[in-house]
Amino acid sequence: SDDLLARHRAVMPHWMPVYYGDDALEIVSGQGRHVTAADGRTYLDFFGGVLTNMIGYDIPEINAAVQRQLATGVVHTSTLYLIRQQVELAERIARVSGIPDARVFFTNSGSEANETALLMAANVRRSNQILAIKNSYHGRTFATMAVTGHRSWSSSSLSPLNVSWLASGDRLRGRMAGLADGDVVDAAVDDLREVLATVTAGDVAAMIAEPIQGVGGFVSGPDGLLGAYQKVLGEHGILLIADEVQTGWGRTGEHFWGYQAHGVTPDLITFAKGIGNGFALGGVVGRESVMNAVPAISFSTFGGNPLSMSAGVAVLDYLLDHDLQGNAARTGAVLLDGLRALDLPIVGEVRGKGLMIGIEVVRPGTREPDPAATVRVFDECRAGGLLVGKGGLYGNVLRMGPPLTLTEAEARDGLSILTGALSRVDA
Ligand code: PMP
Repeated sequence: SDDLLARHRAVMPHWMPVYYGDDALEIVSGQGRHVTAADGRTYLDFFGGVLTNMIGYDIPEINAAVQRQLATGVVHTSTLYLIRQQVELAERIARVSGIPDARVFFTNSGSEANETALLMAANVRRSNQILAIKNSYHGRTFATMAVTGHRSWSSSSLSPLNVSWLASGDRLRGRMAGLADGDVVDAAVDDLREVLATVTAGDVAAMIAEPIQGVGGFVSGPDGLLGAYQKVLGEHGILLIADEVQTGWGRTGEHFWGYQAHGVTPDLITFAKGIGNGFALGGVVGRESVMNAVPAISFSTFGGNPLSMSAGVAVLDYLLDHDLQGNAARTGAVLLDGLRALDLPIVGEVRGKGLMIGIEVVRPGTREPDPAATVRVFDECRAGGLLVGKGGLYGNVLRMGPPLTLTEAEARDGLSILTGALSRVDA
């Protein structure tokens, strides 16, 4: 795809990242957990388009649902008319949300979902003061960039919101350095109280948090951290927004939503990525009293369109019918156990839950990040026929979020390619 890469570079802005440099990949077809590229090679996909291909490629049930809609001749007219699949998906999501009396609003992306949640919170609390967590990623719209905790991901140092930062993003790293979970939670709560002392706490609209930081390198706080936060937030009426764009739909294996590991019920949950299995679909599900507080009519031309909604209903039904959360727990354990058993000096922490797994690549025998070695492992994986992601705060985390339909045999295949790639770079 050399020629296509040159054309891409000639017409796209320079800040759009493309994996594999001059050897960029054009994926032309997919089947199950495998994709075929224009170079003629087939790859096992452990990244799923950044945790977006949640069910797999070319899934008959999803294809049929979308094709049924296409056969009507209507791709979309307007959400000003009733859309049956929109109501059906909203009913299902309200049911699985864990939020009583939930209302659902659909968007096209995770950024728009978070933008909407921030807007709801700001409206109901009459304030644009938001608490966000360091090293977070919440999107690329103006407000979501403002709560994105790492400058190189936020594209702008200007902010339409008044944001106070919680250092717990850094404290999570303290946890990796061996701090006990209880101490991390206590320190994080102290930090929250300190931040609230610098503002008028009653004026803060909301805290937004990822149950596991995704772009930040699959970093999770101790279970219960958000619960400890919510106790303090509740004293001041501050709302909690859980960004489940990466952690939702059973990916973590142990729970349907990432927030459930924390003993909280968020006021608002945002979702996107996997629920469309590739179709543009995001949204917010939240408490009726918050979701209905927006005084004006708010509308999205494409959010809730029949094609995405048809896909979403089929995805959610497939997910629940096939217990993919259980499968994520089982196949995730194969990967986590296998990776943790590797005795390689360049492997730092192996972390994650279910099928959301990160491998930290470090200078041998230290905890120092080694982004250059990370790229070498990443390239070796591709050479071996495996697609993974990379990222993290220091660019030294290999990220894996395969479709939740991953089989045990595929997990072992991927594990063996990873082991080979890590060993070759370690040598
Ligand atoms: N929140 C989280 C946790 C994400 O990981 C992302 C995307 N990486 C977003 C929000 C933004 O979603 P989108 O790219 O669909 O706008």
